[in-house]
Amino acid sequence: MKLLLVEDEEKMARLLQRGLTEAGHQVDVCERGEDALEQALQIAYDTVLLDWNLPDLDGLAVLRRWREQGLRTPVLMLTARGTVGEKVMGLRAGADDYLVKPFAFEELLARLEALHRRGDAQGPAQQVGPLVLDSRRRVLRHGEREQVLTGREYALFAELASHAGEVLARSTLLSHVWGDSFDGPPNIVDVYVGYLRGKLKKLEVEPVVSIQVVRGVGFRLVVEGRG
Ligand code: CA
Repeated sequence: MKLLLVEDEEKMARLLQRGLTEAGHQVDVCERGEDALEQALQIAYDTVLLDWNLPDLDGLAVLRRWREQGLRTPVLMLTARGTVGEKVMGLRAGADDYLVKPFAFEELLARLEALHRRGDAQGPAQQVGPLVLDSRRRVLRHGEREQVLTGREYALFAELASHAGEVLARSTLLSHVWGDSFDGPPNIVDVYVGYLRGKLKKLEVEPVVSIQVVRGVGFRLVVEGRG
């Protein structure tokens, strides 16, 4: 599995990274919540191990932001907090599982594998015309062809696809995909629509599935035969 470990305690991070690598996984480490936030949206991980107590953004805030932005990667929260209320908070924010420190490394491995199996069994895939959008691997598939989407591309495509045929305003997309706290340029939406169109082209699915620009209004994903 390709894993992201978000842990600020250096010793703990090193220990886990070594153990997980020896168990055959590929592990990237982030020490800060802000860095993790971006990294998980840019790289397709199989699972994220997320520490609750981080120096900048705490794990719970990171998790909420990921889920708001459509990131569906399974998240296992690691924390010293073990009270019922906090567990519930973590699970409500979109954690898939929860491990209280200190834990046995074997238990971590077992939980990771269980999460992975569960994900495979669910196989959350959405059909968009002839395309399959695989949310777990963040892949868009057309027959034999595949394109990996970044987290943001995935969230944008999913938003457009769930309103196929409708025109979505730039401001709506900005708010749903980038969040209300985004303070960059609004034309970021146009840039990402451009990336998605490039990927649709490579999938050779146009014009059956296409993203249209409606001048002065916004964008619309069109699936031929579905209006
Ligand atoms: Ca910590």
